Amino acid sequence: MNLHEYQGKELLASFGVSVQRGIVAKTSTEALAAAKELTESTGTSMHVVKAQIHAGGRGKGGGVKLAKSLADLEKISSEIIGMQLLTPQTPPEGKKVNQVLIAEDVYYPGETEPKEFYISVLLNRATGRNMIMYSTEGGMDIEAVAEATPHLIFTEDIDPSLGLQGFQARKVAFNLGLSGVAFKEMTKFISALYKAYVGSDASLFEINPVLKTSDDKIIAVDAKVTLDDNSLFRHKEFEEMRDLSEENPVEVEAREVGLNYVDLDGNVGCMVNGAGLAMATMDLIKQAGGDPANFLDVGGTADAARVETAFRLILKDPKVKAILVNIFGGIVRCDRVAQGIVDAYRNMGDSIKVPLIVRLQGTNSDIAKELIDSSGLNVLSATAFQEAAEKVQKAIL
Ligand code: GDP
Ligand code: MN
Repeated sequence: MNLHEYQGKELLASFGVSVQRGIVAKTSTEALAAAKELTESTGTSMHVVKAQIHAGGRGKGGGVKLAKSLADLEKISSEIIGMQLLTPQTPPEGKKVNQVLIAEDVYYPGETEPKEFYISVLLNRATGRNMIMYSTEGGMDIEAVAEATPHLIFTEDIDPSLGLQGFQARKVAFNLGLSGVAFKEMTKFISALYKAYVGSDASLFEINPVLKTSDDKIIAVDAKVTLDDNSLFRHKEFEEMRDLSEENPVEVEAREVGLNYVDLDGNVGCMVNGAGLAMATMDLIKQAGGDPANFLDVGGTADAARVETAFRLILKDPKVKAILVNIFGGIVRCDRVAQGIVDAYRNMGDSIKVPLIVRLQGTNSDIAKELIDSSGLNVLSATAFQEAAEKVQKAIL
């Protein structure tokens, strides 16, 4: 689950990470009130208006603007709220901005060289450990830095049984070229950041930029936070941070009915039982020259009602040109599943307009094949994995 910047900053602050302070607003009137409140509590008279969408690169797309006065702030806010913001990370049509973060301007006027660092925490898949990834070259062009000068990006792996050690936080601060007060502030920042990452069961923190001011404050100016969905059951406090308007509507619906569905770009809808088989099925579709439209794990119970729900979800995607059902009947018998498919198909009238290819393997698979073949429905059965993928390929040509 992804958080908005303002939510990410609230989470970080609750773990003692120092962040650029701000207040979220849904209208320009609220934005104005937020700015006044910030001035009272922080003393800063300048503010930035920041579009809150689940995508980065907002600065480049015109979604982050400095307001020179309150009138300016009101005008900028009314322009950004409701706009369709296009950034290098949004879909081509952009994303609608429903709210803005009004934040204190932490770049002091006349600051000659504000130093922008890049700091993230994530899983190092090669070592299976959390790592801190960091660079002196933070700011809006970190992707270009990673591309052209990867040696300017450092990583620090953390031993899970020891946690982040003091010397590691100091090493990061040292490699970032800091000394004196800024060095100390950075070690504190890194320690709090790592504590927040572990404490919130996050899977990604990306803070870009982390700002060093001329008076040696270290501040998180941006925050991209992804929480691990598998841990949300033990973080009821995060539930209210989910913004359904930012999520794929079919994925939201699938979650509500307890199906594991991930939307993809291709045109072959898949219904599979078990995540491993689902991954293998997607590979096979690719190998046969196709492209999966989704990942869908129907789990252990593939009865008619569940199969029908799954078909309806898959068919909500207009890109789907064929559906492949690939189910292994171990505990669940294949003939039961076949009956479920036939019943669901009949029950749906003529709403399945694309070819359906069914491969059932395992207990009673021959009875299942017989059931499908004699159903008189427009369903192709397949026995081998490869055969199924090829039938799908022919169907979409
Ligand atoms: P992103 O473009 O989506 O990554 O959004 P960021 O929150 O990183 O903001 C983009 C850029 O706006 C930053 O790299 C900063 O250079 C700039 N920015 C952010 N906050 C302030 C601020 O308080 N004052 C000024 N002058 N610039 C800021
Ligand atoms: Mn950023």
